[in-house]
Amino acid sequence: MPKGIAFFTTCGKIIDNKTGICHSGVKLIRLIRKFNAGFFCHTKGMLNLTDKIAELTQLLCSFDFVDLSHTIENGIPKCPPHPQIIIDPTITHTRDGYYCQTLIMGEHTATHVDVPAHMIPSMMDSTIDTIPVDTLFGPAIKYEMWKISQEAGAQITEEQILSLEEQMGDRARQGDIVLMDFNWERHWRTDRNWKYFAMNEPGLAEDAVALFKKRGVKAVGSDTIACDIPIKDGIELEAFGHRTYWLPNNILIIEMLKNLSVLPMRCYFMALPLKLKHGSGSPIRPIAIVPGKPSL
Ligand SMILES: [Zn+2]
Repeated sequence: MPKGIAFFTTCGKIIDNKTGICHSGVKLIRLIRKFNAGFFCHTKGMLNLTDKIAELTQLLCSFDFVDLSHTIENGIPKCPPHPQIIIDPTITHTRDGYYCQTLIMGEHTATHVDVPAHMIPSMMDSTIDTIPVDTLFGPAIKYEMWKISQEAGAQITEEQILSLEEQMGDRARQGDIVLMDFNWERHWRTDRNWKYFAMNEPGLAEDAVALFKKRGVKAVGSDTIACDIPIKDGIELEAFGHRTYWLPNNILIIEMLKNLSVLPMRCYFMALPLKLKHGSGSPIRPIAIVPGKPSL
């Protein structure tokens, strides 16, 4: 590409140095513009940078944001072997003149993402600080898995998912983020009964895990503690997503999502992890961008 020349679309993707996908997601357009001179929109023509930010602001104002994270607080469910969560008001106004808490917790606390280094010894270079900052940005599709089973230890099969997709009239596509709603948030507790959530969940059979890998999704999330792994009374079955199909293929895993029940089937998902050196995962603050006003 000659120096000073670049090719832009307004909200699409650059395919090569002459072609991009416009924000409708399908129309290919040819663009040649001077670097930093502006951005081309297939419906509005050239926009300068200020116009583009104004357009994005206007667009975002027409959507709502749904918080998909649990509050990080003492007493929330955690994987039993993981470190105890401690949030301590160490510095106080009364004693110190200002306020600051101390946090002690594992990387997989509350709503969080797992990266390959978490489970795959040969991928210790795939840690949370190395993934591109926009990895967890993308179109998302919600699967109401609770319609198939709400039993701890259940292994949902590919056939059951294909049949659910027929009812949905849609299916996960390349680059999508899959959000699995098991209706498991109803078991979330912050009292001494937190362990049921942590030691039980429905999950996926091997062929269902493989199905999402075949579809080329970039992440799979759930409202349960271990996403793909069926668990009953603390006994875990095979972790096909964690060990075989997803993490080894850089398909990230998101766990303990909240508020999935209020989402429409399609939304835009955004989440940012903390940039933890050599991190095996990180708490995230995920949001869904949705049209209209969902009632929480
Ligand atoms: Zn995790």
